[in-house]
Amino acid sequence: GDWLACIPNAHPGYISWERFQENLKIIETNGRGYELARASPPREGAALLQGRAVCGRCGQHFRVRYATRRGRQEAWYVCDRGHATRGERDCQSIAGGPIDRAIGSLVTEKMTPAAVELAIEIRREVEARCEEADQLRCRAVERAQIEADLAQRRFMLVDPSNRLVADTLEREWNEKLRALAETREERERARQQDHVVLDEAVRQRLVAMTTDFRKLWDNPDTANRERKRLLAYIIEDATLIKIPAEGITKIHVRFKGGRTETLTTGNPKSSAQQIKTRPEVVRLVDQLLDHHVYSEIAAILNERGIRPGASARPGRAANRFSGKHVAYLMHAYGLRSRYDRLRERGMLSRREMADRLGVHEQTIDRWAEFGLIKAHFYNDHGWQLYEPPEPNTLAKHSSRWDRLVDRAAGLQAGLQNVELEQKEM
Ligand SMILES: [Zn+2]
Repeated sequence: GDWLACIPNAHPGYISWERFQENLKIIETNGRGYELARASPPREGAALLQGRAVCGRCGQHFRVRYATRRGRQEAWYVCDRGHATRGERDCQSIAGGPIDRAIGSLVTEKMTPAAVELAIEIRREVEARCEEADQLRCRAVERAQIEADLAQRRFMLVDPSNRLVADTLEREWNEKLRALAETREERERARQQDHVVLDEAVRQRLVAMTTDFRKLWDNPDTANRERKRLLAYIIEDATLIKIPAEGITKIHVRFKGGRTETLTTGNPKSSAQQIKTRPEVVRLVDQLLDHHVYSEIAAILNERGIRPGASARPGRAANRFSGKHVAYLMHAYGLRSRYDRLRERGMLSRREMADRLGVHEQTIDRWAEFGLIKAHFYNDHGWQLYEPPEPNTLAKHSSRWDRLVDRAAGLQAGLQNVELEQKEM
């Protein structure tokens, strides 16, 4: 606005006149002051609604936060202004992924070739009208310039001794200069108001892609910054309200034309929720503990195709249950230990068993080994509890001819006889 004259492209420049004008526009939209709720310029990050997401609880724009979790960058829409200025709790914080996916599929669905064509057509018309208006204003500036020049010349030519005339002409010149400045300012103001930022590159891509918006949108080579620019032509803003009780987030999308649409997305499970063991698995472990030790339970779970919770993590699909997993589940869910269960069923420790039968503890081991008494493992280290002995049965035989194998065989036969008798009855 300070220049006396502007002759575009009179000299070769570093950048073209058009490029310069575009840069000005971009700078203007980027730096839109310090209003609290302002749309920010598109940046590289993944959060597609950056600068366009409005908090449904307080009406302010969300900020975008990025968190790297397990090697992947995750975007979050965070409404934390109350936190920053008044030390209040964050108003809302919403995981970006599901929101962006919903928005993505909405726009690719809406942006049929016809819709894009229409949008571009309207845009062109608006631009043409602006251009026309600007040319009118440009002519007004030229006229004011000519009049100011004339007034200057008249003033210069007057005889300085003729003071009265000189004063009048000077005043006239001043007025013309003021008028010129006003017209120029007016033009600049109007231009800035009219200016519709339409990045040339994006426009060309848009035109080229009218046949398939989805292809451009889904193309991994398309930078997020570009996706956001595309979005800027389609969506005015999106209001997000998280409803934790229902595990959903509602997205009210306002399109450029004023139409609105409401989407609903499921809130992602928290990191801990994702790997949480399903309750039915915990119940199964509880049942299996009645009859099995940890490693056996792990084998049973694996065989049934049940996988530990952490296998939901990327790269951990091959995870299988181990005895340690099972032990962890038992402690974490407060399941009764196998030891307690066996004790409850009246099982005796080796010491108690030895006392009961009046033999050495090692004899108990040997008898258990040969099946003369029944033992049950209660952990993976081979520790056992013993079924209480029948009142009559066992006494230590001292004769070396009376071997344990034979006694075990005899016991087996006895059992079989009992079974046979039972069947015959
Ligand atoms: Zn808020």
